[in-house]
Amino acid sequence: MVKDLTTASRDKLTIFTVMGHLTDFEKTYDTMTYQACPECSSKVNPEWKIKGFECKKCQKLVPQHYAYMFRALLADCSETTWVAFSRESAKKVFKGMSASEFKGKFRSQQAAQEFFKE
Ligand SMILES: [Zn+2]
Repeated sequence: MVKDLTTASRDKLTIFTVMGHLTDFEKTYDTMTYQACPECSSKVNPEWKIKGFECKKCQKLVPQHYAYMFRALLADCSETTWVAFSRESAKKVFKGMSASEFKGKFRSQQAAQEFFKE
């Protein structure tokens, strides 16, 4: 249960399997993704370059690409807690939609929330 997550010891690693519902997002639709390097997922300089965006980690220019990074409120009958989602786990929240597709599809908070309710 979610309550077990919130009361677990922070001194040791514990793996949980929890069944619950995601009831809210910490961020708004336009801040749930960031411009990322498609190879290493590092945040890239969003300033437009002539041939791409600069990834400082890979030290090269990369095409426009987005990655997810957000927290959602997980709830069950016991309690609620914020859970972080990125990359593949975040993609599952949006039914397989990539962050780049998400960025192109949603133009309002309401549109994103309605998709999520379906
Ligand atoms: Zn990179």
